[in-house]
Amino acid sequence: MTEREPVLSVRGLSVRFLMPGGRRVAAVTDAHFDVAAGECLALIGESGCGKSVLASALLGLLPANAQTTGEALLGDLDLVTADERTLARTVRGRRIGLIPQSPAAHLTPVRTIRSQLQETIAALTGVRGRAALRDAAEEAAGRAAFPPGHLDRHPHELSGGLAQRAATALALVGEAPLLLADEPTTGLDRDLVRHTVDELRRHVDDADRALLMITHDLSAAERVADRIAVMYAGRIIELSDATSFFGSSGPRHPYSRGLLQALPERAFTPIPGMPPELGDLPDGCAFAARCDRATPACAAQPPMTDAVACHHPHVPEDARA
Ligand code: SF4
Repeated sequence: MTEREPVLSVRGLSVRFLMPGGRRVAAVTDAHFDVAAGECLALIGESGCGKSVLASALLGLLPANAQTTGEALLGDLDLVTADERTLARTVRGRRIGLIPQSPAAHLTPVRTIRSQLQETIAALTGVRGRAALRDAAEEAAGRAAFPPGHLDRHPHELSGGLAQRAATALALVGEAPLLLADEPTTGLDRDLVRHTVDELRRHVDDADRALLMITHDLSAAERVADRIAVMYAGRIIELSDATSFFGSSGPRHPYSRGLLQALPERAFTPIPGMPPELGDLPDGCAFAARCDRATPACAAQPPMTDAVACHHPHVPEDARA
């Protein structure tokens, strides 16, 4: 699966926010990963670790004080250097379908779901004419399991789950080869989480799309992902296939293991301490102050070696002990 041509290839992507007074906030540092067609990569980590900044960087939606370097190749287009006109006309909605963090806020409040779908279909596809647009809107709604009987409702008349499906339907209209789902399960109850991630998986499997799902919800990631990327303090610190990550050998980075151990269905033991401020990161490993494996060697930044950035990673034999 990972031998397939990547749909998205991110190399050395960094984002710095230049703040008043010359302060620099290192929101994302040197991210490397690929996502292939038919694959779901879940990017996980606590709130504020840089996941959503990374998503915004891919879509060219960062504020003016952001400085982005590195490369993010979508086919032959580098999203980092692409101009706004190219991103707006050919990328957002067409080559990357965004399933947003807050669907209700993303939908236009004064228009029905039908009219929003029809407008998006007219903009992104060749469909023209009232009847054809009406049919296409119903078909698009059906692809996201949005009930046709609710198409003439406004966003405020929808439950969280239905708003999520409406946003998913809109994201799928352009038949984009890459879906970027930014915290798609926020605010949903467990049944709706399962339903939403199963739908996303279906959209990946049905049309061989690639899915990059950004989430702090580990159960959702376990349910949908083929591979896991763990982010901490702006860096991707572990890349793993989902089966070993959630299986008996478990992850190798102490932070990743801490995330799993914090789950109620596991040890329910939170990681001690707090993540460092992105504007005031230490020179060495950013997890050192919270890590029970830290040694003096950790005062130096650990390189990514064998898909884990840690001087003393767990090895599978440890994990079974
Ligand atoms: S590099 Fe050191 S401090 Fe950082 S996670 Fe690994 S063992 Fe812990």
